[in-house]
Amino acid sequence: MTALPISHRTVYLVASRRLEVREAPLLRPRAGELLLRVGAATTCGTDLKVWQRGGHPRMLTVPCAFGHEMAGTVAAAGNGVEAVREGDRVVVANSASCGQCAACRAGRENLCRDLDYLNGAFGEYLLVPERFVRRSTYSISRDLPLERATLAEPLACVLHGLEVCDSDRRQEALVLGGGPIGLMFVAVLAARGQRVVLADLIPRRLEVGSVLGAAETVLVSGGAEDAARLRGPFAGTGPALVVEATGHPAAWEAAIEAAAPGGEVLLFGGCAPGSTASCDTHRVHYSELTVRGAYHHRPATFRQAVRLLEEGLDLTPIVDHECRLSGIGDALAAMERREVLKSLVRP
Ligand SMILES: [Zn+2]
Ligand SMILES: [Zn+2]
Repeated sequence: MTALPISHRTVYLVASRRLEVREAPLLRPRAGELLLRVGAATTCGTDLKVWQRGGHPRMLTVPCAFGHEMAGTVAAAGNGVEAVREGDRVVVANSASCGQCAACRAGRENLCRDLDYLNGAFGEYLLVPERFVRRSTYSISRDLPLERATLAEPLACVLHGLEVCDSDRRQEALVLGGGPIGLMFVAVLAARGQRVVLADLIPRRLEVGSVLGAAETVLVSGGAEDAARLRGPFAGTGPALVVEATGHPAAWEAAIEAAAPGGEVLLFGGCAPGSTASCDTHRVHYSELTVRGAYHHRPATFRQAVRLLEEGLDLTPIVDHECRLSGIGDALAAMERREVLKSLVRP
């Protein structure tokens, strides 16, 4: 076993908009656990929300180690860990389901009533608890750089969102919101050969969408004229599938407004707690729309995400910034100003 340091640097969220890089004791893995040397981590829209709000009702309570998208190398494995060994390259999902409850038995592990969350990706090392080693650790091929593998978590969420949809893969799609998640929807739909249109308020995000395969882009303004603009690229009738990826109630409403008769609306972006959106009940009823929510990822879509990345799905245009542990606060502030999509953290 390679000698491990006695402490390491890791980022704590201590309050709303307050991060601290702390020198923390480096705990050795006990039975069933493993110690990950983090090679690459990424910031995410969820991190931004959690940083702004100073916590998350499900994922963490401050003060708490922070960050949830990461890939790295196994630095040490506790007794009884057999699936991976020291030196293996892995990604660890940020949640682990119980495997026992009704939701888990039905293959809907994202709805597990005892879902555990893992934070601490923004550190030099991360101690991975036993349940995560057993249920949420994925080996990756030598050829997949850690900088790409760290994107498995958001990609797994996107794949889950598409899996819960009924929409025929030949049909056209509209993605509302060109943040990292919306752009991943564009990349996946385009890679499947679907015609996908991206709408956003910011021209630069539309440019990244075009690079990732959007057939057309629509610059929206947030006003009443957007409805016609969004239907424009779909022969005036609207898209068969609309993916909302902004997390704003107004976009939830716009998504329902934009869908073609018989179409499907995937409401993917998590809005602030307590928000409500209204919809035109006549449209949902007489146009027979299917309106769905989707949350998080499942082991099946996490495996699928790793495989797609190994097969070469290139999401690197979405990562447009890089920082060290001490620079994460600035990176999040730049994301808030919409100057940065996603930052690669090299601990
Ligand atoms: Zn994420
Ligand atoms: Zn469960």
